[in-house]
Amino acid sequence: MRGLAEVPVEPQSPERYRSVLTAEQWQDFSSGVERARRLFAGRTIWMVNSTARGGGVAEMLTVLLPYVCGAGIGARWMVIAANPEFFRVTKRIHNHLHGAPGDSPELGAEERRIYEDVVTDRAEELAALLGPGDIVVLHDPQTAGMCPPLRARGVPVVWRCHVGMDTPNDVARSAWRFLLPYVSPADACVFSRRVFAWEGLDESRIAVVPPSIDPFSPKNYEMGETQVAAILGAAGLQEPQGDAPPEFRRLNGRLHRVHRRAGMREETVLRPGNPLVLQVSRWDRLKDPVGVVRGFELGVAGRCDAHLMLAGPSVAEVADDPEGAQVYAETEAAWASLPDGIRARVHLATLPMDDDEENAVMVNALQRRATVVVQKSLAEGFGLTVAEAMWKGRPVVASRIGGIQDQIEHGHTGLLLDDPCDMDGFGELVCRLLLDPGLAHRIGEAAQYRVREQFLGTRHLLQWVDLLGSLAEVQAAESA
Ligand code: UDP
Repeated sequence: MRGLAEVPVEPQSPERYRSVLTAEQWQDFSSGVERARRLFAGRTIWMVNSTARGGGVAEMLTVLLPYVCGAGIGARWMVIAANPEFFRVTKRIHNHLHGAPGDSPELGAEERRIYEDVVTDRAEELAALLGPGDIVVLHDPQTAGMCPPLRARGVPVVWRCHVGMDTPNDVARSAWRFLLPYVSPADACVFSRRVFAWEGLDESRIAVVPPSIDPFSPKNYEMGETQVAAILGAAGLQEPQGDAPPEFRRLNGRLHRVHRRAGMREETVLRPGNPLVLQVSRWDRLKDPVGVVRGFELGVAGRCDAHLMLAGPSVAEVADDPEGAQVYAETEAAWASLPDGIRARVHLATLPMDDDEENAVMVNALQRRATVVVQKSLAEGFGLTVAEAMWKGRPVVASRIGGIQDQIEHGHTGLLLDDPCDMDGFGELVCRLLLDPGLAHRIGEAAQYRVREQFLGTRHLLQWVDLLGSLAEVQAAESA
């Protein structure tokens, strides 16, 4: 088995961002790009993770790295391969970091041996590819163990942790203890929120970099109402309307016609005029889909004529997530037990996953179609779906947890539900927006502004320039 595989990156000009930034933001960004060209001249930035597709890390690298390469900066993306034993251990670490025991509470000497066997080899393989001055960014627990051998060779290394808990428990702390010897030598450890940073890490090496969205990807790019209606109609997500072709432009520039259909569990098809409350998420208990159905039944349905749609990935196609099918079945059971009149206004959609861009464009169209977007999660690291909806000017009701609190300022850029299990509170907030279009519009506009200011890829890239640039400067000074 080859231990490292390279993921090709198609360069994309950062000029593209000019159209969505204010003049001042563009000025900051372009001088950051200039600075980066100077700082990283002759160096390569290596991003290393464990998967090329699926999951937030792959999504982030897919959208950000093209701009780095497009700016003329050397960047390469490597994915580590490993045996199933290794991934069993790293999945366990991942679960523990979320505070859940996963398949076992054990993270002892045997797990350490399985883990170190792989990461030590991968570090050697990577080291053989590195040039002088190169910088390595390791993502998540799967690659953390590559840090000590690389640091021992004098390579600057950053470890980026994408997982975090507001209130860590003993299970999470046991995973920190397992990983600390690997990440402690890193020049910097990066977290999405300050509270996610672990105890025991050197404070001066902790950096906070929240995630971001890409306004030009099929998930987020601008679509007019006609295109939205055409795509929803073709995918079976709404009654077809008009005769516009359900087309979208792929990342490679080609026009593509949506032809896959969503799996729908519904009694009546959604009509273009129906006000719509939408939650998009994986079928995961922490996203509380059953709670959304109940909250709609108890707090929303009797006060207005809105419909509810829960949209998530097709469960048949996600073979590595047996829990997804189970949670979808629980949601379906909750739907089936709704009173007749209300059940007719609730739609469960499973979106085909075999074409990433077609899936993304369906999510984009749904988010643009929604009157109110909800994210009633019980736990959330950041909550990309919140930023995606806010960017589209949608008013969002979301739980006051995790990274959602960094995105939404209650009453201004969205509404926060203090207790995610408070059904009355959920209904009250959703109805406040449904029944007051003026408020919904003001909140939607402020939400889009907030994402423009804080959660676009440009801010993310500038933070990376600052962090990696300071490492490059230190290294240049040391070797002078
Ligand atoms: N998503 C998607 N298709 C789906 C369901 C979700 O593309 O059928 C996307 C969603 O738009 C978002 C990501 O998956 O970009 C989920 O990220 P988030 O941070 O909201 O939650 P996570 O799944 O990482 O817990």
